[in-house]
Amino acid sequence: MARKNISALIIIAFIVLSFVLAIPVHANVIEKLNIKSVALTFDACESSVPVYFEETILSYLIREKIPFTVFVTGKFARRNKERLREIAKLPFVEIENHSLSHYSHMELLPEEKLRREVMVADQLIKSITGRKAKYFRFPEGDCDEKSVERLERMHYKVVHWTFPSGDPDQNITPEKLKQWVVFKTKPGSILIFHINGRGYSTGEALPSIVTALRRKGFNFVKLEDGGL
Ligand SMILES: [Zn+2]
Repeated sequence: MARKNISALIIIAFIVLSFVLAIPVHANVIEKLNIKSVALTFDACESSVPVYFEETILSYLIREKIPFTVFVTGKFARRNKERLREIAKLPFVEIENHSLSHYSHMELLPEEKLRREVMVADQLIKSITGRKAKYFRFPEGDCDEKSVERLERMHYKVVHWTFPSGDPDQNITPEKLKQWVVFKTKPGSILIFHINGRGYSTGEALPSIVTALRRKGFNFVKLEDGGL
C-alpha cells in the first residue's frame, strides 16, 4: 500500500514538474518591432466552434488601406476561404500562421503533432492565399524554448505581442479599450486584437484607436516592414 502511494506521489510530482517546466520563456519570441512604427495584428482563432471574420473590422481597415496582419488557424482559413483569398490580394494585408486547431499549450504536444499543427495550417494558407506565411503565433501565447526552436527549424519566426489589449473581455467598453491601448502603445509595439467575433468592442473602438495613435505620431506597418 505504502509503495503504491509513493508511486502515485512520483507521478503527481512528474505532472506538476512538467507544467512548471512549460512556463513560457520568451527566449526567441518576438514581442516588438525593430522600428518605431506600430503593427496592428488580429487573431482569427478557431478550434471547435465555427467562427467568421468580423466584417466591421475588415471593412474599416480595407477602406482606409491601413496595413494589418491576421494570424489565422487552418480551421478558420478553411471556413473563411473566399474572404481570405480576397483580402490576401491586398498589398497591405499579411496572413500568418496561428496553428491548425488552436490547441492550448502546444508546447506539450509531441513533436510530430506540433509539426502537423504548423504545417497543415501552412499548406492551407498557401493554397488559399498563394502566399507563404513567415510568422507563427502560439495559441494563447503558450510556448517554451524547445517549441520555439522547433518553429524556427520550420523557418518560422515566432511573433507574439507587446501587451494584451484585453479585447476578449466582454466587460471592456470601446472607450476603455481605446484608452488602455493608446496609453500602453510605445514605438515598436505589436498590438493584438481578435477578428473572429471574440473582440467584443474591437470593431467599434478601432477607428478611434487608429485616430488617437496617429495623433500621437504613430504609423502602421505590416510585420515584414517592421524589421522582423
Ligand atoms: Zn488565438
